[in-house]
Parts: sequence; structure tokens; C-alpha cells
Amino acid sequence: MSHYEKKNPLDLYPKPPFPEQEQQLPGLARKMTPRPDHGEESYVGLGRLKGFRGIVTGGDSGIGRAAAIALSREGADLALNYLPSEQADAEEVRDLLVREGRKVVLLPGDISDEQFCRDLVERAVAELGGLDTLVMVAGHQESNGDITTMTTESIDQTMKTNVYSLFWLTQAALPHLEPGSSIVTTGSIQGAEPSPDKLDYALTKGAIGVFTAGLAQQLAPKGIRVNSIAPGPIWTPLQPASSDGETVAHFGEQAPYGRPGQPAELGAAYVHLVSPESSYTSGATITIAGGTPAF
Ligand code: NAD
Ligand code: MG
Repeated sequence: MSHYEKKNPLDLYPKPPFPEQEQQLPGLARKMTPRPDHGEESYVGLGRLKGFRGIVTGGDSGIGRAAAIALSREGADLALNYLPSEQADAEEVRDLLVREGRKVVLLPGDISDEQFCRDLVERAVAELGGLDTLVMVAGHQESNGDITTMTTESIDQTMKTNVYSLFWLTQAALPHLEPGSSIVTTGSIQGAEPSPDKLDYALTKGAIGVFTAGLAQQLAPKGIRVNSIAPGPIWTPLQPASSDGETVAHFGEQAPYGRPGQPAELGAAYVHLVSPESSYTSGATITIAGGTPAF
């Protein structure tokens, strides 16, 4: 069946209830049931990013893995970042893409650390011979419905991973980015519609939208575009690693589609925002949420 055949999006992928499952953060794609679809079998590249060189944070699993597969199949050379405990997931992505003749380098480390962010960019530039694409997908999420028990340590972890890293990575990348380069952030519908048990996470996701809108204007005179993807509920290890089993079993049920999205349903949007085909698109957010409104 052709990838471009008309299909009913409601029936494309598994629906809840799912088997109850929990993991420890950051979680692994390989431990999920059913296994998420990152476009391994379906994404067809058209050579839209030949010669591009990019960093993808969170590229080991979930939405970042789908972005990495799509960007790579379009021709981009990639450096993938993730936490060291996710090495097995990351190697699965690298092995798949390297078998297809692509260049993929693995640069594990913690982006909530300022110095690591700067080192990550320098090592990526050295490995790839330059940089024009900064795709920031990594994110930290914890659930806690009681503000009185939220620790400064956990709030800090969410803020540094989700927001500070955007500053540090962009600062380090900018000296290397020529006109035509682009930056893509990853927000969430949580940024506009916060769940009561995700105060700090939702705050960071709102901040990412604001960061994207402001930075797009700041970098427009340099010919560098800045855009964002705001996902709704997507079937990734972030969920079993930050919610209880019962919640995971019904994940995505509330979306108008009645199911969560699969990472594979986001890869093409990252490609679009990086590709020169979206040359007049900057400061934009693409919501990918199965009919859930963005606000
Ligand atoms: P995921 O667990 O597959 O990806 C998150 C990644 O973040 C991890 O793989 C990990 O490599 C990375 N990460 C976390 N903390 C890090 C740190 N300190 N240093 C380096 N890397 C770190 O889950 P996902 O759902 O694909 O998440 C990707 C992005 O999508 C996140 O920003 C998340 O907030 C966003 N998002 C997800 C959903 C959803 O329902 N899954 C919805 C909206 C937004
Ligand atoms: Mg992961």
C-alpha cells in the first residue's frame, strides 16, 4: 500500500485501552506495549534535506526518534542527544539509519547542564563539519497534583531541561548558523491547556511557545527561522515514565480521535519546518493533536 494512499486517520493506529504499564524516567521505547511507531517502516524521504547538518535532542525515542528518522531519510546528517541511560534506544535509531547509508552520531549527556549544552553543540559541529539545523525535542515531565509537595529540585529539573536548555543550545549554535538555517522547538497543548497535575511542565511548554515567537523575530534579520511543534497526546515512553498505569491505559482517549498519536505522525512536520519549502514560515507553531484544540 502506498504511503500516500487516502486512509481514515481514526483507524490508523492502536486505541485505548492499552495494557497498564509504568517505567522510570526517562523510559525506553523498547519497553512499551504496543511498541510506538516512529516511521521506521513508513517514512519515505524525497531528498528535501540533502547536505543539511542537524542536532536532534531527545532523538533516541518518541517524537525525537520520529523526527530523526524523517530528517535523516530526507538526507540530513544528524547528531542525536539523549540521556546515557537511553543508549539502547539511541543505538536502535543509529543502526537503522546507518544501515540506510546515512550519517548519525550519538552524543549522550544531560542538557539541564549548561556546560554540557555548549559541549554538545561544539562536538556536533566537529562531527558533522558544520551546523544549520537545531531540533529541540527533549523534555522532562513529572506528574504531581499537589503544589505543596513539589520540590524546588524537581521544578528546577523541569525548567532547566525544557527551557534553559533552549537558551544554552541556541546560544552555542548561533555562531555556526548561516542564513537558511532553522531552529525547531517542541511545545505541547499543555502550554495552552494545563492539566492540574502538570503545573511546572505546562509552564515550561507555554514558555517554549513564547520563546519561539520572540526568538523568531530576533533572528529574522539573520535569515534564521524559528518554529515549534505543539503535540497533543503521543504514545511515547514519557507517558508510562511520568503517569500511573491506569492513566497510561486510557491515554489519548479524550482526544477527538479517541486515540493517542504515534510519533510517526509528527516526523513530516519537523521536516517541513526545517526544509526551505517553509521559507516564509517563522514564529509559527504547528499543533498535532488529533483534533484537540490548541487553546
Ligand atoms: P520521550 O521520552 O521519547 O522523549 C523525551 C526525551 O527527552 C527522552 O528520550 C530523553 O532523551 C530526553 N531528555 C529528558 N531529559 C533530558 C535531559 N536532562 N538531558 C537530555 N535529554 C533529556 O517522549 P516524547 O513524548 O517523545 O517527548 C518529546 C517531546 O515531546 C518532549 O519535549 C515532550 O514534552 C513533548 N510532548 C510530548 C507529548 C506526548 O504526549 N508524548 C505531548 C506534548 C509534548
Ligand atoms: Mg528516550
